[in-house]
Amino acid sequence: MHPIYIRHSTIRSIRVWQRYEGSVFDTSNLMVSVSGVRGRVGEGLTPEVIARFAAAFGAFSVRETGRRRVVIGRDSRVSGPMFLRAATAALQSVGADVVDVGVVPTPTVQLAVEDLEAAGGLAVTASHNPIEWNALKFIGPDGMFLDAEQGQRMRSLLESEIPRADWRALGSYSTDDEAVERHLERILAIPFLDVERIRARRFRVALDCVRGAGGTIFPALLDRLGCVLEAINLETDGLFPREPEPVAANLGDLERLVRNVGADVGLATDPDVDRLSLVGNGGRALGEDYTLALATRLVLRHRPGTVVTNLSTSRLLDDVAHASGARLDRAPVGEINVARRMQELDATIGGEGNGGVILPDVHLARDAPVAAALVLQLLAEEGRSIDAIVSEIGGYEIVKEKVPRPSGSLDAAYDLLAERLGAPEIDRQDGLRLAWPEEGRWAHLRPSGTEPIVRIIAEAPNAEQASRLVAALREALPA
Ligand code: MG
Repeated sequence: MHPIYIRHSTIRSIRVWQRYEGSVFDTSNLMVSVSGVRGRVGEGLTPEVIARFAAAFGAFSVRETGRRRVVIGRDSRVSGPMFLRAATAALQSVGADVVDVGVVPTPTVQLAVEDLEAAGGLAVTASHNPIEWNALKFIGPDGMFLDAEQGQRMRSLLESEIPRADWRALGSYSTDDEAVERHLERILAIPFLDVERIRARRFRVALDCVRGAGGTIFPALLDRLGCVLEAINLETDGLFPREPEPVAANLGDLERLVRNVGADVGLATDPDVDRLSLVGNGGRALGEDYTLALATRLVLRHRPGTVVTNLSTSRLLDDVAHASGARLDRAPVGEINVARRMQELDATIGGEGNGGVILPDVHLARDAPVAAALVLQLLAEEGRSIDAIVSEIGGYEIVKEKVPRPSGSLDAAYDLLAERLGAPEIDRQDGLRLAWPEEGRWAHLRPSGTEPIVRIIAEAPNAEQASRLVAALREALPA
């Protein structure tokens, strides 16, 4: 299998923002989405920019909910303390009472928003992006990222004069050191997680947290699950020793560790701990798609129901869902799109093929520690190696390509493609996805929200078929 990379933040508003270039402040070096703002430290992203967004977010959250408390937390990036202080000051300036949960996973910040009944939350993290990036992720009062509608409402505040508090109404500042502990307790309370059964197996687990925020939660989780831990990169200093995205190509050190210590499984996470990638007991990275596939295999056994994923996730998930008689529904790419669809359909499990697993028993957010607990429960139940389970599930080949974005509308190309390729399934929710379920093939074409390119991804039983599909889509695009 080739490693699979799926961009998981849907960025739709950059052109809207560019209208304000020079009038409010320069956003030309920033990537702005409904649920966050991201940039290179010192270029697009400065404390002034962070403060402006944080103030708008704080004013928006307080106004919408009538609550004053806003949770803030960060990953381990070197620029994190500086941006956290800028955001904190800005939140206080609009009358928000800040609760700082420190260096924690993003899903821990999301849970803290729910637990503390806050107006919202800010995670200072650029997720899987390299060390020179940082970002804010905006979290609503339900612990989910802001969706398109909420993002619009927040933006209208950012465009106008943000209402500031006078000296009597400034927000307070406090810290909360218990957020990770509460997160752990929620995971260990998953109704079908049999902690004693996992503990009895004494799994040897190799772990690579890339010196991100994973070091704050993973050792404790694995200890409570009775695992023998063999770890690298647990320091939380943000000095990433490898490319931080947990795709197979970046996991060479973890593969060696698994082989050297004879681990049952290897776990790798990204710096803000919402994505989990696995290395099999043979010491080979499995590719991120297997994380959600394995978690789904386990969860459907205990909780029959609907599965939700995005349009670019591997067919592996269809196979796993159908083997359990479950329905699989696909939403546009982007965590919030998948999470909202899960809410609508009252789904049992969902997530993205990039290693992001969402289990509503804990919360509607991608959560790597949740994913790890589910994988260990699966290993405990099946009583055989992860490589044996994966070879039973099988696999596909994925081919990906980026091409320059044509100047005109893509709608005509979509119509042409749908007609020419005669796919039995056509999905227009997010670009164009064509599928031939009987033959195990699909292709997805979507314009990037951040770059002037179109992404084409195809999957088939073999690489040649997948390449042919990519070529057919590429050739049908207008110049
Ligand atoms: Mg992440």
